[in-house]
Amino acid sequence: MTAPRWTADPAEALRWTPVTRLDAVDPRSTPGFDGGKGDGRELLGDHRDELSDLQERLFAHGRTGGDRTVLLVLQGMDTAGKGGVVRHVVGMVDPQGVRCRGFGRPTAEERARGYLWRIRRALPEPGLIGVFDRSHYEQVLVVRVDDLEPEATWRAHYDEINEFEAGLAAGGTAIVKVMLTISPDEQLERLTSRLDRPDKHWKFDPADLRARAQWAQYEAAYTEMLDRTSTTAAPWYVVPADRKWYARLAVGQLLLQTLRGMDLTWPPADFDVAEQRRLLTGG
Ligand code: AMP
Ligand code: MG
Repeated sequence: MTAPRWTADPAEALRWTPVTRLDAVDPRSTPGFDGGKGDGRELLGDHRDELSDLQERLFAHGRTGGDRTVLLVLQGMDTAGKGGVVRHVVGMVDPQGVRCRGFGRPTAEERARGYLWRIRRALPEPGLIGVFDRSHYEQVLVVRVDDLEPEATWRAHYDEINEFEAGLAAGGTAIVKVMLTISPDEQLERLTSRLDRPDKHWKFDPADLRARAQWAQYEAAYTEMLDRTSTTAAPWYVVPADRKWYARLAVGQLLLQTLRGMDLTWPPADFDVAEQRRLLTGG
């Protein structure tokens, strides 16, 4: 028996393309992976050391004047598992090298400053991995579905966002955008469990039920978002997320491949190593 493995590059299998249809992505599927839950968890765990090593290289690079950063953007309906990805995937690396930020309803000040203001302030500094749990994309999702801005205003955001992200990419940020897609049935189960369990009540928001009732509108909003903002500089990956283990494995793999692709080398010493060794040992 061969070990369970990726049978297709997840970056290819999950990447949004102009011909992808959201309703054709089965949230229970596990594209490109031929194993089950135990295998997926094991494989993700196997990546821990390499992820940590690459993250430390990135950090060292930032400490020595480099400008590279990684930005992982997570979107998805309530209970899609964004928090779980942060905990189980991003949580595998040194927290000192990570900046996580969740975006909820904007405050009055944030609204007044424009939707990209709070986003810019939350961007990772050089050498860090930034994680957005929701993002500027809410401006073409909840804002569209709930009619919070006139259509002409939110429609203009697609080009603004593309330009914003192209600037980030040009400045050294590797952008990985992940949409976690779950089925209405799976969401029903997860929301029910939030109501059943007192230790999960804090996660429940009565507003989630409204978003759930607007499922079709969200699907349309997500589809147009994916079509309009999946770019070479900042592609979208659509990750089936009814199986939490798969979603975590897939995002872990995307993160790993992104870091590998940055060709990060350890910064050379800017001092004379032999001389320092002599001084240390008093020789
Ligand atoms: P949670 O991610 O569970 O903390 O929920 C955050 C809530 O904030 C969600 O209902 C989002 O739709 C909402 N939210 C995030 N960004 C915006 C935005 N720009 N405008 C309006 N609502 C937002
Ligand atoms: Mg919520």
